[in-house]
Amino acid sequence: MSPDGVLHLNYRPLAHRRIYRQVQRRDGWLCAWCQGPGSTLEHVIPVCWGGQTALDNCVIACRSCNHSRNNALPSTFVRWTGFRPTHPVIRRILDDEQGALKRAEDALRTRPLSSCLSREEAQVWVAFHADHIDRVRPDPPEEPATRLKSDMKPFREFFVP
Ligand SMILES: [Zn+2]
Repeated sequence: MSPDGVLHLNYRPLAHRRIYRQVQRRDGWLCAWCQGPGSTLEHVIPVCWGGQTALDNCVIACRSCNHSRNNALPSTFVRWTGFRPTHPVIRRILDDEQGALKRAEDALRTRPLSSCLSREEAQVWVAFHADHIDRVRPDPPEEPATRLKSDMKPFREFFVP
């Protein structure tokens, strides 16, 4: 809280862009989920779960995967799609998702607001520190936010007579 009583949410577009460039250089233009062409920055532990914009939590994803996963945890997205991601960042988190969530929450408790690189991250940080995290964190979705691509296997199987 600043002296004028107004909460100023920090966010750092230049630092955010730097992480995006580093992830892009590491991963190329391939979606870490479906291996198709991709160019969006994807948080493996979603921001609303405390996931940080950092090299060990971000991969490149295509718009379709990014949007259809929305805030679902990686294990949920894998269940929906049948994907078997091989990207080391996703693998490491999937191997111990509960541990990763716990670590993200612990980090959120101790890291400063200035560690947030986007407005959304800063909003989650503030809500968490004001004990309003349940208002920010959505219920885990039961289904994809948008239609999955038609070539995603489980849905194709669903329509096989
Ligand atoms: Zn994809």
